[in-house]
Amino acid sequence: MVINLISDTITQPSKEMRIAMSNAVVGDDVFGEDPTVNKLQQRLADMFDMEAGLFCPSGTMTNQLAIKMHTNPLDEMICDYTSHVYQYETAGYAYNSGISVNLLKGAYGKITPDQVSAAVKPLYDWLPISKLLVIENSCNKGGGGYYTLDEISALSTVAKEKHLKFHLDGARLFNVLVETGESTEDVGEQFDSISICLSKGLGAPVGSVLLGNKEFIRDAKRFRKVMGGGMRQAGIIAAAGLFALDNNINRLKEDNDTAKEIGQVLETLPYVEKVLPVKTNILIFKLKTMPATEYVALLKEKGIIASAFGPYEVRFVTHMDFTPAMKIRLLEILQEIRIAD
Ligand SMILES: *Cc1c(COP(=O)(O)O)cnc(C)c1O
Repeated sequence: MVINLISDTITQPSKEMRIAMSNAVVGDDVFGEDPTVNKLQQRLADMFDMEAGLFCPSGTMTNQLAIKMHTNPLDEMICDYTSHVYQYETAGYAYNSGISVNLLKGAYGKITPDQVSAAVKPLYDWLPISKLLVIENSCNKGGGGYYTLDEISALSTVAKEKHLKFHLDGARLFNVLVETGESTEDVGEQFDSISICLSKGLGAPVGSVLLGNKEFIRDAKRFRKVMGGGMRQAGIIAAAGLFALDNNINRLKEDNDTAKEIGQVLETLPYVEKVLPVKTNILIFKLKTMPATEYVALLKEKGIIASAFGPYEVRFVTHMDFTPAMKIRLLEILQEIRIAD
């Protein structure tokens, strides 16, 4: 039995999802004529009470389009230093949009209104113009923690005061909403644009959707095209996204609960220094003496795939293909391991 906890992106489309895909009514989406793509875009836009949506191959593309649409070259975006838009998108903000980045040091990936307010630059010829604020919910590299709606609302107020556009990288937003019970409409109200990933915990094989107002999405569609992201009968994959929205949102709570349960066991183990607060489906723990790469190699010999997330930090991500039998086996293995102090 291989137990893969490297990410929630590794989930396989279920049999039912594949049936929905094979039954999808499709058309040419470059002409805007794929009914399944249109339905997915409209479904998410309606959920978040936003005007329009744009289906893209990846969350990197939806984020990059948002940055491009909200800024001009020589501007800057403000975000936490752990942000996906800074860490994991190949410096696309610089390459695609010609902008700079103003990094804040938040707590577990979360920044405060005061930090943002202080970071906004005055208007001088020799400074980039602060134009865009990006936050992530849940915070991936921050360990799966999240902003509540009240915290987001306070950031949104500062963004308005300072004339910043406000983008949400909501790759795992639904893992948050199943915890807080907050509504998608209330979240939508706070932002100029939102990116939602269907290929993380929601279990679709491919795809992300960018949400915003009509003009924003119309212009983003042009840039999707120039980036090579105009797809033809994309309804085949959009159908998986619709299936995920219909069937896989509520069950994300199980992934969050499972991560918490594993975290509680890890806290009792002599070789674990500490477990970061487990808020959603991402679990990061720190080892006392063994380097993370060695520990990850040890786990791999035992059939468990995880990632080294720092010199002594290890990350597990729970997901829908992590079965109860796998959980039992995982907990046995974690408890069997002996490491000298
Ligand atoms: C996964 C992820 C993305 C998008 O990644 P793709 O692999 O390009 O779809 C964006 N932001 C965060 C926080 C993510 O975890």
